[in-house]
Amino acid sequence: MIFDLALENGVICDGTELFPANVYVRDEIIELIAEKNRKFQARQSVDCSGLFLLPGFIDPHVHFELNLGKYSSRDDFDSGSALALSGGVTSIIDFLDPVSSAEELQRALESRFALAAKSRVDYSFHVTLAGNPESCASEIIDKSLSVGLPSIKVFTTYSSSGRRTKDGMLFDLLSLSRSRGVVILAHAENDELIVSRSTRCNEERPFSYVDLPYMRPTISEVAEVAKLVLFSNSVHGQLYIVHVSSGETVRTISSMDIDWKKSTVLETCPQYLLLDASMLEKSQGFLNTYCPPPREDVERRILNEELKKGNLQTIGTDHCPFLSTEKEENVLDYRAMPNGTGSLGISFSALNTILDGDIVKTSSLLSTNPAKAFGLYPFRGRIAPGSLANLAIVDRDCVKEYSKSPFTKSDHTLFEGFSLRGEVKTTVLRGRVVFHENRVLADPGNGRVITRGPVFWRD
Ligand SMILES: [Zn+2]
Repeated sequence: MIFDLALENGVICDGTELFPANVYVRDEIIELIAEKNRKFQARQSVDCSGLFLLPGFIDPHVHFELNLGKYSSRDDFDSGSALALSGGVTSIIDFLDPVSSAEELQRALESRFALAAKSRVDYSFHVTLAGNPESCASEIIDKSLSVGLPSIKVFTTYSSSGRRTKDGMLFDLLSLSRSRGVVILAHAENDELIVSRSTRCNEERPFSYVDLPYMRPTISEVAEVAKLVLFSNSVHGQLYIVHVSSGETVRTISSMDIDWKKSTVLETCPQYLLLDASMLEKSQGFLNTYCPPPREDVERRILNEELKKGNLQTIGTDHCPFLSTEKEENVLDYRAMPNGTGSLGISFSALNTILDGDIVKTSSLLSTNPAKAFGLYPFRGRIAPGSLANLAIVDRDCVKEYSKSPFTKSDHTLFEGFSLRGEVKTTVLRGRVVFHENRVLADPGNGRVITRGPVFWRD
């Protein structure tokens, strides 16, 4: 019998431990994991000597072609998915446009799925709620499940643009989340604090991007996340906090005398682990405009420490870059500036650097945990017979200066010149080598919709 693909002489991370072995794939599935000196015939083989094989990464938080009216995020499903593959990412979850009733969901779904047809990487979406919907929580959950999207994003802020969902609705969603099998994602910042600070800011002089950390202070995140974690804990919900920006937030949650990890998953992003608020003061500081904003260096350090302690479970990138000119032309009026930055592709090197080459920890943050959080495990997020043959093959120890990826349509990266350890060498998607020797080998349209059913977190 001949296999389709052999990945030989590497060290495998199965999610919990490392061991040298060879991986054999047939019909898109990992069929056999053999001891390192047992070899079998395959149509194609890749020599992975000196490299580590990790389950293909899952980025549960990207915004490709996000339409903000005048501007759209620069990476579309074509360039964004190429960038994903170059970073070892084999599955992405993007977001539907916000809807305010269950009926609107179908249209939102069709428009985003149409754009995603050119993706090179497998994809799914989270449903996004706008404000306080006309439909009740139960109807929204029913409709989301019926279209195969068991995760619903809400905002606790942005009342000014009608996106804030109030506590009553949020609590209803969390109360139903575990029994119905949905995950509630929350962008958690305290709206009233932000509104009051923004108003005060505006009275004195027009907004400036350097005011961002003042307008959206750390306490607005700490307080809102703490509240939601308590909500979720009280109803044994399934809560996922997106883009936790400050170490203070994680430290506060961890110090609470409750078993919060049973009902909450915390996500952070490479930008909060690597960058701090001083960047806003530097030349071209306006490029560092994203929400929540970058925090003080001391908070960034605490975030790194909490990551090492295992108090953050997943990494999403919140990838949403805009051109320098699109930011710069609004430099005198922050309110018109598009918020967001690009960090897709850097996650592995960033984590591997922070975690000192701890491949098991890195792979749980990039693969196993997001797979479990969104109901993709064990078909994705694991290297074992029967799982989909999605792999990221990495050099753990090379050290390189980061520079802008050739695959993004953005014109800059905030991580230029950062010295990072580790690099993705090869990416395998459904048993096919789709990134190798710095070339993306999958065409637009190669991506498939990820089938998702109800999600039940294990107690
Ligand atoms: Zn986002």
